[in-house]
Amino acid sequence: MLNREPKCSRCGIEIKGDDVVLLKMRYPKRKGMVEIKAYLNNEGAFLCENCFQHESK
Ligand SMILES: [Zn+2]
Repeated sequence: MLNREPKCSRCGIEIKGDDVVLLKMRYPKRKGMVEIKAYLNNEGAFLCENCFQHESK
């Protein structure tokens, strides 16, 4: 299994624990999803707080 470090999809900064991140993702179709972390790494796009503030302007 790939163990990718989550990174900001805009600036590429590594997301660390406790960081505030914005997550853009497709809501899963399947119910009872267990592998939420794996799903997020595959389908989600993280955005660090910094980039989010830039984008919302
Ligand atoms: Zn960023």
